[in-house]
Amino acid sequence: MSDSIPPRPTPIQRFASSVALPTALDGCWEWTAGRNNRGYAQYVTHGKNNVSGHRFAYEQFVGQIPAGLVLDHLCENRGCVNPAHLDPVTQSVNMLRHHHRRRAEKLAREASSLRAAA
Ligand SMILES: [Zn+2]
Repeated sequence: MSDSIPPRPTPIQRFASSVALPTALDGCWEWTAGRNNRGYAQYVTHGKNNVSGHRFAYEQFVGQIPAGLVLDHLCENRGCVNPAHLDPVTQSVNMLRHHHRRRAEKLAREASSLRAAA
């Protein structure tokens, strides 16, 4: 029998307990804890302000995010914290990619409705 206080979980243990791992090896790591109002994973660190879960994941598993860069979710899933799905880019590249993805989706929808009408 032990009445000792369990050790406080490390930041990475707390992070891991907030993530649902996918069955597919390359799937999204879904954040199960709080999200901010834009749908991004919110991770609270001790003694620090809230950081986004995806930025925490990237810095833990890949490395420092270069100053001034944002992380682009290549999977388009804002609740994903899989570092392999994150690409550090400038805000303008991020916006441009987002715009191109939206446009590609719109074109794909148009193409499929043309196919359905044919
Ligand atoms: Zn993902």
